[in-house]
Amino acid sequence: MEGTSLVEKSYDVIIVGAGSAGCAAALLYARAGVSVALVEKASAIDAYKPLCTHYVQPGGVAVLKDLGVYQTLLDKGAVLGGMRFRSPWGEFLLPQLGKGQGLNIQRSVLDPLLRQRASDHPLVDLYLGVRIRELVQADDRFSGLILESSSDGRCELSSRLLVAADGRNSTVTHMAGIKPRRTRNDRISFFAYYQGLAPRESADVQVWSVGRGESYVAAFPNEPDLTLISCYVPEAHDQQWRGRKQECLEEMVASQMGTPDLRSGRLVSPLMRARRLASMWRSVSGPGLALVGDAGVAVDPLAGVGITWALESARLLVRCTAAPLYKASSDHSLQRSLTIYRGRHWLWFAPQYALISSFSRVKPYSPLTRGVLRLLGRRARHRGCYHPRNRCSP
Ligand SMILES: Cc1cc2nc3c(=O)[nH]c(=O)nc-3n(C[C@H](O)[C@H](O)[C@H](O)COP(=O)(O)OP(=O)(O)OC[C@H]3O[C@@H](n4cnc5c(N)ncnc54)[C@H](O)[C@@H]3O)c2cc1C
Repeated sequence: MEGTSLVEKSYDVIIVGAGSAGCAAALLYARAGVSVALVEKASAIDAYKPLCTHYVQPGGVAVLKDLGVYQTLLDKGAVLGGMRFRSPWGEFLLPQLGKGQGLNIQRSVLDPLLRQRASDHPLVDLYLGVRIRELVQADDRFSGLILESSSDGRCELSSRLLVAADGRNSTVTHMAGIKPRRTRNDRISFFAYYQGLAPRESADVQVWSVGRGESYVAAFPNEPDLTLISCYVPEAHDQQWRGRKQECLEEMVASQMGTPDLRSGRLVSPLMRARRLASMWRSVSGPGLALVGDAGVAVDPLAGVGITWALESARLLVRCTAAPLYKASSDHSLQRSLTIYRGRHWLWFAPQYALISSFSRVKPYSPLTRGVLRLLGRRARHRGCYHPRNRCSP
């Protein structure tokens, strides 16, 4: 099925945005017996987000397992591994939240798979290629949407709960008048795919801290023989990189000990640039409204947690609200479960958000951070997961 035709209809939940957050929420709601309209502006079921380095943390992998797509992702070339961090004070595997390994999977595989799985469920209607014209309100809460598509014209869908899963520049939150709190991100990211690089030492993502934390280089192993290389540099370097992005990327990677030799492989994609990616926090629930994924909290891509947070926040929302929706409990009871969602969401994400946002500023590491990096490096050395030949010079 390539999408449902737009006709006036009522659902338990309308989810706007069929990315990782929206598809995960749709599938989990449907499995709990809740009917879902999943509304997506892209017209193709296999559309995907190209601006992403697509590493999923162990916490996100756990949700992918819950969704029943983990084995399919492995069959389609996902690479399992941790995240190894190299600073001038030592190398260590980043302590990650969640058991097990993270995985690298291209968005061209992940997004269509999640969308297809969600739309295959009989309780999910997927509307592709639609535009939101208006949010509908009744009895002081959001109660639906007016949508438009080129083939079906305008139409109203109504629901007990409206979920914004439409990414960091969320239209729904904009229309609902919810403003984000922003934390500046001083860096731009450049990335590209290489093939034919010398065999990898491990399947871990590797991150090199350049200088004293002003810039970073990262190598993400993808399916055999494909490596995504990315650099995060201060915004001030944008001019310097303009017109010679590939040269700058390759120079920067070569300047770090232990990085892949890019000249041994070949560039197989355009070189992409992502900038002005401030971290953003929005209050994640209101009357008849909930926010998941980047629409609620979008963070510096340097941390590689966005997909994981999208999946985790979707699962948390469903756990908090599926029962009152399924049992058709009162609006009051649904509202109480939305307040619980907001509280739990804050407890889980706010401390991580604060830590990550502090790394979005270009400044030398504080003595405390240097101490922690030194300690983690020393501990890893004692445990034998440190390679002296790759030691970075201080
Ligand atoms: C350069 C870069 C690198 C990154 N690297 C990583 C990484 O390595 N690991 C990681 O975990 N995260 C990474 N991220 C972050 C990650 O891409 C996002 O956090 C994640 O995609 C958020 O998922 P989401 O479902 O909330 O939003 P999105 O993936 O943005 O999905 C939103 C969906 O909503 C749809 N939509 C938008 N507006 C509307 C509308 N008005 N109506 C209907 N539909 C709409 C979109 O078409 C899309 O399908 C990176 C981000 C960037 C920019």
